[in-house]
Amino acid sequence: MKQKILTGDRPTGSLHLGHYIGSLQNRVQLQHAYDQYILVADLQALTDHFDQPEKITKYIIEVVKDYLSVGIDPNQTTIFIQSRIPEIAELTIYYLNLVTLSRLSRNPTVKHEMHQKGYHEAMPLGFLCYPISQAADITLFQSEWVPVGDDQLPMIEQTNEIVRRFNRIYGTKVLKECKAVLSKTSRLVGIDGKSKCSKSLGNAIALSDPPEMIKQKVFQMYTDPDHIKASHPGRVEGNVVFAYLDAFHSDQEAIASLKVHYRRGGLGDVAIKNILNDSLQLFLAPIREKRNCLDANMVKEILHQGTAKAAQLAKETMEMVREAMGIKFT
Ligand code: ATP
Ligand code: MG
Repeated sequence: MKQKILTGDRPTGSLHLGHYIGSLQNRVQLQHAYDQYILVADLQALTDHFDQPEKITKYIIEVVKDYLSVGIDPNQTTIFIQSRIPEIAELTIYYLNLVTLSRLSRNPTVKHEMHQKGYHEAMPLGFLCYPISQAADITLFQSEWVPVGDDQLPMIEQTNEIVRRFNRIYGTKVLKECKAVLSKTSRLVGIDGKSKCSKSLGNAIALSDPPEMIKQKVFQMYTDPDHIKASHPGRVEGNVVFAYLDAFHSDQEAIASLKVHYRRGGLGDVAIKNILNDSLQLFLAPIREKRNCLDANMVKEILHQGTAKAAQLAKETMEMVREAMGIKFT
């Protein structure tokens, strides 16, 4: 029996280079050796987009197109819609009893996102509780591996705490602990220099961006603010262009010499941006081409089949969970 993987993305916008480097690339590689499930996290997206359901519905299709265009193979990976699996909601309710408000409020990712969204006192409870629903996602699909960016590490920790607590209280081993699969670049910076590019901050290069948009975003990138003249020495650390060259350029030796040159002086920002633009265009062109061959009906069929398969596993796990808890009626 292959070990299981579960991961997912919120359909709040188009997937971007951060998704690729932080998680999608690993998913493409791991799908052959593991039984991989990917959920399109529409329930989680609604926790901060409850007033924009049309947007979430639209991006379900777009996100799946992004998966297929980077090489996620629906014959090897089960792709499904979170809200179509009611067991996730049921398991979330059971888990809510196992987590305290103070523990949830200490989750650093949630704290950061609360602040970013300006929730303060008026935070929807659904949003505060999304790590619990995420624990339900992971455990319902018996996942032992979760390929994610490093912003998700607190969620994995929270999930394992719930698993240990559940197994201890109900005297069972039915739930499995999981581990994050992190990539070398587990957090890609935003084009504006913010610590993470994300859909909601509008500081990312989308996998589906047209060539002119990619170029425009590369040329907007934050570099070294003190590097006023090309002849001056420049800083590589904290320079977004170099962060992207590290992550995406195919010749890392060439990048190492480029860094030496930039630090020494005599290499302008326009030159490094042109190099980055060329390599991103090369990287994204085949992804765009593959995407152009996909249509919404094809995607809907994949989701339909994936959701039916996921529903079967969800039902089986839920039966074991209820049995372990002793809430079984005959
Ligand atoms: P939103 O702004 O709506 O939260 P997002 O860009 O943060 O969107 P998510 O759908 O929340 O994307 O995240 C999906 C997966 O992609 C998670 O595993 C997350 O860790 C990973 N990820 C997102 N952004 C990055 C990034 N900049 N670098 C590495 N991984 C990332
Ligand atoms: Mg996010």
